[in-house]
Amino acid sequence: QIPVITIDGPAGAGKGTIACMLADKLGWHMLDSGAIYRVAAVAALRRGLNLQDETTLAAMIPTLNIEFKNGEAWLDGDIITSEIRNETCASATSQIAALPMVRAALLELQRQFCQLPGLVADGRDMGTVVFPEATHKFYLTASAEIRAERRLKQLSQQGLSAKLCDLIQEINARDERDTNRPVAPLKPAADALVIDTSSLDQAEVFATVLHYIA
Ligand code: C5P
Repeated sequence: QIPVITIDGPAGAGKGTIACMLADKLGWHMLDSGAIYRVAAVAALRRGLNLQDETTLAAMIPTLNIEFKNGEAWLDGDIITSEIRNETCASATSQIAALPMVRAALLELQRQFCQLPGLVADGRDMGTVVFPEATHKFYLTASAEIRAERRLKQLSQQGLSAKLCDLIQEINARDERDTNRPVAPLKPAADALVIDTSSLDQAEVFATVLHYIA
């Protein structure tokens, strides 16, 4: 059986960074499942689809050529790495991610990332739905204020500005949609180690994860 480590949690809890550090250290593959949902959202926006039309959105998914190579996200041969990170895309993503048929259509694509020597999977439902048999499961969280502050810092490093109160509002809105949806709601797996990263830096979170795995 191929080993899988899942890292779930809300936006901005630091899952992506920890998942990359871990995949690097172990020499394993990495699945950024949020990026898959985001690419699907870009495809829906480009086609002008109604973001509530579950049947049409789900039918679109098998027709897409989604790839991650050379550090870029590709949709049907186009690089869309920066497009998948903007707020329009994030909001469209959490809308389509609430639809059961869309989630079902993306399940197999996500499971294809499970290859030897192992996989580190980052998302919302990696430990609960996509890889319930995972070897180790983590759930990273932090207060909305702390997550918004981290996002603000990230944006300013990119030369962008934003208001902290707007970011807090966006994060709360996204958490609310991700938590209250009927399928694969955001919640820790029963057998996940929950880590509140509010008062921890990256090195401390990584050390906690490594300690638990060892
Ligand atoms: O992790 P990221 O912020 O890129 O995810 C974007 C959105 O995709 C989330 O807000 C969530 O709605 C959705 N998502 C999901 N299940 C996953 C990963 C992401 O529903 N496993």
